[in-house]
Amino acid sequence: MMMHEPPNLVGLRGRLTHRVSLAKYTSWRAGGIADSLYLPADRDDLASFLRQLTVFEAVTVLGLGSNTLVRDGGVRGTVIVMHNPGAALAVMDGLIYADAGAASPKLARFAATHGCVEAEFLAGVPGTVGGALAMNAGCYGGETWRYVVRVEVLTRKGEFVVRTPSDYAIGYRSVRRADGGALDGLFTGAWFRFPQGDGSRARARIKELLARRIATQPLALPNAGSVFRNPPGDHAARLIEFCGLKGHAIGGARVSEKHANFIVNPQGAAKAADIEALIAHVRETVRVRTGVELEQEVRIVGEAA
Ligand SMILES: Cc1cc2nc3c(=O)[nH]c(=O)nc-3n(C[C@H](O)[C@H](O)[C@H](O)COP(=O)(O)OP(=O)(O)OC[C@H]3O[C@@H](n4cnc5c(N)ncnc54)[C@H](O)[C@@H]3O)c2cc1C
Repeated sequence: MMMHEPPNLVGLRGRLTHRVSLAKYTSWRAGGIADSLYLPADRDDLASFLRQLTVFEAVTVLGLGSNTLVRDGGVRGTVIVMHNPGAALAVMDGLIYADAGAASPKLARFAATHGCVEAEFLAGVPGTVGGALAMNAGCYGGETWRYVVRVEVLTRKGEFVVRTPSDYAIGYRSVRRADGGALDGLFTGAWFRFPQGDGSRARARIKELLARRIATQPLALPNAGSVFRNPPGDHAARLIEFCGLKGHAIGGARVSEKHANFIVNPQGAAKAADIEALIAHVRETVRVRTGVELEQEVRIVGEAA
């Protein structure tokens, strides 16, 4: 096996570490190590980092890892973790600007505080703005890209470009390039237009939506939200429950009793392989019993152990 040579870079303000467990960077709290992991200080620092990486270095992006399963063998190359507690949110020319590393719930509260409505749905999506852009995150009737005016993207070579929604093919939990290709580059920021409205009502709605989540989702246990997309006209959770899979466990991973489309890691001891095997078992059981092919919403990265 070829050994990974850690990048040796100069003038950086972020934090570069090596052989880092990704379990603490994903909400499932499972998975292997990254050869290298970079926490950029800000967008310019990230651009400088990318410009210095050789083209041979594999790059993987994580926000808050709330939709990602990292396999037990870990990720080769460098993982860039975009989440940044100091990420900027601002009002600019009637639009709301958010750094990609800002947490989506912060964007929801910021919008409400600044007299905007309809961003409330993001309050319960525990990822970053970049992750919400990559996934077209949505719930309770809201969807990220409905409000995007433009995005800033950093290419793998370290160059910034500004794009608009017409540059993308946007669907349910899916964003591709307009030509059908997979996303290229990293989102570093986005400008949103949320309608003006009653901010105090928006804040009340945030509370209401969060209470609804606490009542229906296993938020106290490590999980990655909905594992499968809802098939047209139906709910993945209904199909999984119909198949009697609630509570079904493989190793340390279990189908949540509270919400059948969630897989939880109750002791924090699940291997990524347990979670992946459980995902496959649920998909196969639902296919055999109902004829419906569930599509995965969570992303799986890295190598098997
Ligand atoms: C309790 C819980 C509830 C959830 N509820 C919802 C919900 O209601 N609706 C919903 O849509 N999702 C939900 N999710 C899933 C998840 O929170 C969203 O998909 C979220 O937007 C992912 O953001 P993240 O930063 O954690 O992404 P990650 O998991 O870190 O990454 C997801 C994907 O986005 C890519 N990515 C991340 N950042 C960038 C970037 N800056 N540029 C380019 N690509 C990037 C990654 O490479 C990866 O492919 C839930 C998850 C949990 C744990």
